[in-house]
Amino acid sequence: MSTTPAGWEVVIGLETHTQLSTASKIFSGSATTFGAAPNTQANVVDLALPGTLPVMNRGAVEKAIMFGLAVNGTIAPHSVFARKNYFYPDLPKGYQISQFELPVVVGGKVGIVLDGVEKTVQLTRAHLEEDAGKSLHEGLDTMGVSGIDLNRAGTPLLEIVTEPDMRSAAEAVAYAKALHGLVTWLGICDGNMQEGSFRCDANVSIRKPGAPLGTRCEIKNVNSFRFLERAIEYEIRRQIELIEDGGRVVQETRLYDADRDETRSMRSKEDAMDYRYFPDPDLLPLVIDAAWIERVKSAMPELFEPMRERFMSQYGLSMYDAGLLTSSRSTARYYEDVVILGADASLAAKWITGTLFARLSLDGLNIDRCPVNSGIFASLLKRISDNTINSTGAKQVFENLWNAPQNQDGMRSLQSVDNSIAKHGLEQVSDTGAIEKIVDDVLAANQKSVDEFKAGKEKAFQSLVGQVMKASNGKANPAQVNEILKKKLSG
Ligand code: ADP
Ligand code: MG
Repeated sequence: MSTTPAGWEVVIGLETHTQLSTASKIFSGSATTFGAAPNTQANVVDLALPGTLPVMNRGAVEKAIMFGLAVNGTIAPHSVFARKNYFYPDLPKGYQISQFELPVVVGGKVGIVLDGVEKTVQLTRAHLEEDAGKSLHEGLDTMGVSGIDLNRAGTPLLEIVTEPDMRSAAEAVAYAKALHGLVTWLGICDGNMQEGSFRCDANVSIRKPGAPLGTRCEIKNVNSFRFLERAIEYEIRRQIELIEDGGRVVQETRLYDADRDETRSMRSKEDAMDYRYFPDPDLLPLVIDAAWIERVKSAMPELFEPMRERFMSQYGLSMYDAGLLTSSRSTARYYEDVVILGADASLAAKWITGTLFARLSLDGLNIDRCPVNSGIFASLLKRISDNTINSTGAKQVFENLWNAPQNQDGMRSLQSVDNSIAKHGLEQVSDTGAIEKIVDDVLAANQKSVDEFKAGKEKAFQSLVGQVMKASNGKANPAQVNEILKKKLSG
């Protein structure tokens, strides 16, 4: 996948802006909901009217603490909000409130797996800051003006910065995906990349292996995993060509243009110095004591790694299945609900990762929107376990339930399943006499397969099983069919 020519090493560090999902802004009481009419969610603080003062949102801090705990970072007992000064029309104060020398989270790590190889990406820090507003150009350019929408101004962000630890575009994407999985699992960010809730800046440089770090370029605001990969790939090629042609990389900020699949220079890189950072005199230092950390910790969801381990030991699942079932919190919750409601744990794993996942992806649905609820699904699996239906019949019932969703829970869900079984005549045939009769007919009509089986062809047996199942309209109990066939063939 990577196009790095031999002799070069790629170095990448990512800075990710995750929008924290709080109802109100980080320093004001305005709402943060996406998509409202321009400037309807900007109050006097967001507009930077003189005399207004910021008030810190504790919810945003708690989300940052939760993140720090999840990545095993250090939660700073004392951190400081700083002003990052620059002019831009969407920043009416003339500065952004951020954290500089003392961020709320220091260090930590995120594990990634790429082509089966595990690797750890070290985090440098994570700091709280406010988002800026947005300039609007669409529909206004013919009038020669731009609009300013301050709805986003003051939306809480946690900027998560890595060490320059990644060595390919694919690794950077694996990290971004792992981080995205983590913040959405924790519920601190909605993860919606189209709406800009999760955006990455990629710092890319190249060097000869073993040489000191090369000069980097920073690609700003990439909001899809695919673009991230392509932007980095392009940037690597550009830098290598530049150096091989005798030039040198200039430190700068670049933008990725998806239409042309290239990065373009936006501005020369500014240094921290240029921003004249200083502690914001309007805000007290952020003090986080042990008791606060404890409170946040006790409200945290179980993380996916321990949950995966627990699924393996508690339910006897393979690492692979446990991984699939913990791919999101809703998937894990669905699985555990089904098991708690009485379904067999390994049958549930098989059906959820197989039939259910396939059906969800066919309709492009997330498990949160699954039309077959966990209660009904558990009831369906119970009817397989108690031999009322076989898996062919169960697939049919599942399809019926999918198309005519039933919302009842508890006892009534079993009734829905039973109604569907009865309505479509899907009860499994477990009557030995009836199956023996079908087997006899099939054996008589398939002498060739019988001979082949006796000559040692194992496949002939499977073909006979198939014939019997077909003759029973898919309703025979497959275990019994196997047993009776074996008996008759060896008799
Ligand atoms: P700034 O805040 O000015 O963007 P930082 O020093 O905080 O700069 O680094 C930002 C990001 O760039 C970090 O993720 C860091 O790991 C990464 N980085 C720093 N130097 C390099 C380099 N030479 N090549 C690639 N990434 C780098
Ligand atoms: Mg930066």
